Amino acid sequence: MEKERKLIIAGNWKMHKTVAEAVDLVRGLKLELAGVKEADIVVCPPFTALCEVSKLLLDSNLRLGAQNMSEHPGGAYTGEIAAFMLKEFSVRYVILGHSERRAYHGETDALVARKALAAHAAALKPIVCVGETLEQRDRGETEAVLERQVRGSLAGLTREQMLETIIAYEPVWAIGTGRNATPDQAQEAQAFIRRLISQMYDESVARRVRIQYGGSVKPSNARELMSQPDVDGALVGGASLEVRSFVDIIKNAIAR
Ligand code: PEP
Repeated sequence: MEKERKLIIAGNWKMHKTVAEAVDLVRGLKLELAGVKEADIVVCPPFTALCEVSKLLLDSNLRLGAQNMSEHPGGAYTGEIAAFMLKEFSVRYVILGHSERRAYHGETDALVARKALAAHAAALKPIVCVGETLEQRDRGETEAVLERQVRGSLAGLTREQMLETIIAYEPVWAIGTGRNATPDQAQEAQAFIRRLISQMYDESVARRVRIQYGGSVKPSNARELMSQPDVDGALVGGASLEVRSFVDIIKNAIAR
């Protein structure tokens, strides 16, 4: 399938950065990335920094994302954040079903699908994460795991909603380990995911939906990974916490 999709590169800051540190980082990114149009660039700070970061992004080509949200529209859910609260800060994207949330907070495919529907109901674009563990890969279960996660986590999305959804292929063994998937491994998994989307929807949706790769993306591997035909961007953890490394990832990815 021919590539006709704009790159989308998102930084997942996880549970890092005070508000002051977040502001510093975004100021640096804005200076370095002003005018970059070849990729959609998204920063996903912790909830506590969304308010201040959103003010800085008002006159910027960078977009704001959140790292999680509730499946519920609001109400008595102590400690949760609803979509309408994210909208207050002009959040456009929300990461859902990150493997850390699946592993440490018991998030299931069904829950991720409900959250994805709630995100779309609020006109937020979900970045839905899927990916196998090392044990699953070693047992030859990668495709079965991806199929279960993709079908389960996207269940119920309409064709239009699917087109506004980003999928992040994040092999769990590559997250935060310094060991990225090889470009071939990423391509193979992401082509498989695209074929699944074609079966679930149609070829036109599959051709248009963007699939990011995530897992130890760095300036040194961004270009080769992003050159793969089914890799449409990156979800970046550790390397998104510093101006220089995130900017270099974006510049190297664009130069692919
Ligand atoms: C992530 O957590 O989404 C991620 C890809 O992390 P890292 O880049 O640090 O591997």
